[in-house]
This record gives sequence, C-alpha cells and structure tokens, in this order.
Amino acid sequence: MELTKKILIAMAVGVSLGAILQLTGLNESQFIQDYVVNGLIDSGGRIFVTLLKMMVVPLVFVSLVCGAANLGVTGRAGPLGGKTISLYLITTALAVSLALAFALIVDPGLDSGGNSEAKVQFDPYQVKEAPSVKDTLLNIFPSNPIAAMANGQMLQVIVFALFLGLALSGAGQSGQKISDFFVDTNQVLMRLITMIIQLTPYGVFFLMAKLGATLGLGEISKVLIYFCTVAVALLLHGMLVYPLLLKAITGLSPLSFFKKMREPILVAFSTSSSGATLPVTLRTVEQRLGVKNDVASFAIPLGATINMDGTAIMQGVATVFIAQFYGLQLGLDSYLMVVLTATLASIGTAAVPGVGLITLTLVLDQVGLPVEGIGLIIGVDRLLDMLRTAVNVTGDGAVATIVASSEDQLDREIFRDAKANA
Ligand code: ASP
Repeated sequence: MELTKKILIAMAVGVSLGAILQLTGLNESQFIQDYVVNGLIDSGGRIFVTLLKMMVVPLVFVSLVCGAANLGVTGRAGPLGGKTISLYLITTALAVSLALAFALIVDPGLDSGGNSEAKVQFDPYQVKEAPSVKDTLLNIFPSNPIAAMANGQMLQVIVFALFLGLALSGAGQSGQKISDFFVDTNQVLMRLITMIIQLTPYGVFFLMAKLGATLGLGEISKVLIYFCTVAVALLLHGMLVYPLLLKAITGLSPLSFFKKMREPILVAFSTSSSGATLPVTLRTVEQRLGVKNDVASFAIPLGATINMDGTAIMQGVATVFIAQFYGLQLGLDSYLMVVLTATLASIGTAAVPGVGLITLTLVLDQVGLPVEGIGLIIGVDRLLDMLRTAVNVTGDGAVATIVASSEDQLDREIFRDAKANA
C-alpha cells in the first residue's frame, strides 16, 4: 500500500482510538492514564519525533556543506541566498495581509449584533521580551560550531556549514577529497531518513491517539468563529496562494507538487513542529520534487527556521479577534505594524509546537492590545498549531521549488514522475 494511504489510515485509527478512550471515560482510570495514554501511546509518539529530531543536525549540516561546496564552485551563492530570503519574507507578509483582510471581513471578535464581547477578566499573560536587532544579528554567527550543533541552533549551523562548504570549494585537491566524503555521507543519511519515514504510520498513530485521548473539544465552541477564520485563511493561503505562485512563476503543476508534499504535510500536521519535519521535507524536496541539493540544502533548513506563513496567519487573525473582542479600534498604521511585526515574529518563532502563540505577545504588545487576550484562544491553539505547521512546511517546499526553477536547478523529469523515489 502507498505510504500516504498508510499514514492517513494510521491517523484515523489513532485519533478514533484516543477518542474512544476519552468518550468512554476509560482514560480516567489511573491504570489507563499511567500505562496506556502516558505510557505506551506517549512513548510511541515521542520515539518517532525523537528519531526525526535525531536526523536534523547531521542532515542539515552535511547536506548544506555539499550544497555550499557546489555553490562555491559555480559562484551562485549570493543571488540564490538573496532570492530565497526575499521570497520567504514576501510570502509571509502576503500571508499576514491576507489573514488581516479576511479577518476584517469575518469579524470573528464581534457578537451577532456587531458588538465587542469583553465581559470576562483573564489571567495576565507575560509579554515575551523582544530581542534587539543587534543581538539577533550577532546570534547568527557561532563562536563554537560544535556547541551550536549540540544546542540545535539552526541558523548558526547553517552559517558554519555555508562557510565550510565555500572553503571546501576553494581548497583544491584536499577540498575535493573532503567534499567527496560529505557527498557519500549525505547519501547514507538520506537512506537513513528514508528508513525512518517508513515508520511514519506507526509514529503518527501514537501521536494522533494521544491527541484523541487528551484534547477537549469544548473549548472550540467558545471561539468557534476565530477557529474557523484561522483555519479558512490557512487553507486559502495553502491551497490558493502557493499553487498560483508556483504555476505563475514556474509553470509547474500544483497538483503534482501537493501529491509529493503529502508526506511532509502529514508529518507536520501530526508533530506540530516544522523543525522535526525538516528531514522529511528535505528528502521530499530533493528526491521527489527534483530540487537540486545546492538549492534544497540551503532553502529548506532556512525555511524551517525563518519561514512561518501559517504562524503569521494565525497572528494576523488573532490580532483582529482580540482587538474586536475588547472593542479596541486599530488604524491602518496599526495594521501595517501588524504585517511587519508578524513577519518578524514568525522569523523569531522556533520551529517547535506552540511557540507561535508566545511570539504573538510581541505583535499584540507592538500595537497596544491587551496581551491577556491570548487567554481567549489558548484553548484551541493545539489544533490550529497542527494546521499552521502544515502550511509552514508547504511554504518551504513551494519557495524551494520556485527558487530552484528560476536558477535552473530543478530536475523537471523527477518533478513530473509521480513515482520518483516514492
Ligand atoms: N509549530 C509551529 C512550527 O513548528 C510554530 C508555531 O507556530 O507555533 O512550525
């Protein structure tokens, strides 16, 4: 059976099993709690996510060294970097703008009479301290590359790998020998991630079972319109903006793109972490979509770290929702500020579950909205996190494909071949 089918079935069975445990009240028994939900199910899910995370640093490092070494030879590193970063920023700004416009049409924070609803007090929520531009810039450069790898500091790992790769390309014979070693290691790591991907149905089963057993759906009814507005904005961006960009710029079929991106999208959905999904995305983009290693090895890790369109969309809708709920007016200048800060905040959002909600405090604070408004939406964020992470990962794949096509680094044969490296 096709892997995607297996994953979908595992998701459905997992979530049903979890829901049965919850609805029958079985998960209230101490035994089931300790040994099944927090024991077997939790461990199964965690082992899968840990296996994915295990691959992130080695795969990104080795793959990017190979890519940078190649770029060094051809001297294209500059334009490629510029194009990729610009596209990431543009798509994110587009995403927040779309989210704001859509939310202003739907008015998720107003009651049916068009009035604000703030009657309740919420627990004060801590504002996240915004790092200064200087610190952010300084933090990209590693003083100790090994420490950067040990701590999973992706931007620092990216910078070190870029420098090392460029140095290899200029180091003659010795550089060539080491380059060959990295190319071989990359092959082996790709094989390893292919093996781990085969385990996806099992991992996803456990993750979904945990979700089904623990998620309280009651919260959704309280903020149903907010929930649906974010979900629809995410769908619009994912199913309209990316396909249109892809078609317009590259002429490629969005359908083939989505068919191949299904696996990373499903893994992103189940893990809520674009960081953990990174190895799957990298493999798919390189081996199934046909993006050459030079582009994929740079664009995908960078995208997983700084490109979060889904997160920015949630932040856009949440800002409108909270402003309307508290009956506060925002002017055009405030909305422009939201576009800017949500774009920057999504860059600063770590690629792990739930962080988008923390960086939302930056956006709210910037336009003078009550940060405790986050208390309103926190209950439904778990599910929205799954959806927005799927969009985040789709955006990385789309931008990498567009950049590769424009740099003539896309193997169109592989892109079109439905079975390529399946
Ligand atoms: N979970 C998201 C991701 O990993 C980040 C967030 O929005 O919380 O992409």
